[in-house]
Amino acid sequence: MSFEENIRKVVPYTPGEQPQKKVIKLNTNECPYSPSPRVAQAIKEMDIDALRKYPDPVCASLVSSLAKYYGLSDDQVFVGVGSDDVLSMCFLTFFAGQKPIIFPDITYSFYEVWADVYRIPYKVIPLNDNFDINVSDYICDNGGVVIANPNAPTGVAESLENIEEIVKKNQSSIVIVDEAYIDFGGESAVGLINKYDNVIVTRTMSKSRALAGMRIGYAFGPAKLIKYLNDVKFSVNSYTMNMPALLAGKAAIEDDEYFTEIRDKVVATREWCKKELKELGFTFRDSKTNFIFARPPKGNAKEIFEKLKENDIYVRYFNKPRINEYLRISIGTDDEMKKFFEVLKKI
Ligand code: PMP
Repeated sequence: MSFEENIRKVVPYTPGEQPQKKVIKLNTNECPYSPSPRVAQAIKEMDIDALRKYPDPVCASLVSSLAKYYGLSDDQVFVGVGSDDVLSMCFLTFFAGQKPIIFPDITYSFYEVWADVYRIPYKVIPLNDNFDINVSDYICDNGGVVIANPNAPTGVAESLENIEEIVKKNQSSIVIVDEAYIDFGGESAVGLINKYDNVIVTRTMSKSRALAGMRIGYAFGPAKLIKYLNDVKFSVNSYTMNMPALLAGKAAIEDDEYFTEIRDKVVATREWCKKELKELGFTFRDSKTNFIFARPPKGNAKEIFEKLKENDIYVRYFNKPRINEYLRISIGTDDEMKKFFEVLKKI
């Protein structure tokens, strides 16, 4: 017998490229603007000596700020190292049964990686040709449900009515609603957590709050589910979030004015980009996110992706069935997008 048999082997998630040279970076849905000046202030004022000690394991100050901002109680909020960490903890906590969990075939590709690594059985449900979910597909016997709303990489938002229907009809499993992009459009399911005991909503500061580098994610849910999540977190790693991240997250959430300003700028640029793309013959579903998932008129997405890259413009291309004729273009600043269209027109 070889030790190979004892090794947990997985096909890892492939993150978008993070080139170390300066490029126009439209490939990983980051915010093109700086984080709130209050974040810089909080980091600058941080007591370096305090780093000798472990950070607060319950992250009380950040949890309280989030609860206050969203009108929830502290015991309805969980925080983690980006929403990837939060989602991973949710998979580990809520999907321990034998029945397959379900999620769409075209969605955040990390879901099947977590399912694999935790040995959770899963079944993917095809979106229709318009990239919409069919609600009745989700009303079935299952071990859990995961829906990204708005969805990635499609950018399509489902109505709150549809999300509520899925939550309501799945009382014997947990429904996770991944709202990584909700600040850019779409209707949040956060209100459902006071109405149903089987729903968890996850969020991130990576996109709309310009803090991808800090790794801050959070979840809302009924207190009982948040307790289950914390029990698992404390059984894996109690000190997940570091001190600078705790301070930065609190400062970012408290600066609502700045948040609104940069979010509105991204949305305005997105709407302008939609017009430009349409004029060039690209087709796409209406995006409620900080990216547009568009099909070039000739379907030559891969070639365009490569040519853009030669010009130091990075977008995301997925060489996967059903979506290999699309490009996912993150929304940059107006200047970056002008340059993008200039090069795109030449191609
Ligand atoms: N959910 C979705 C749908 C995403 O696109 C992303 C970004 N890759 C995440 C979660 C994770 O984001 P983060 O870990 O930066 O919070």
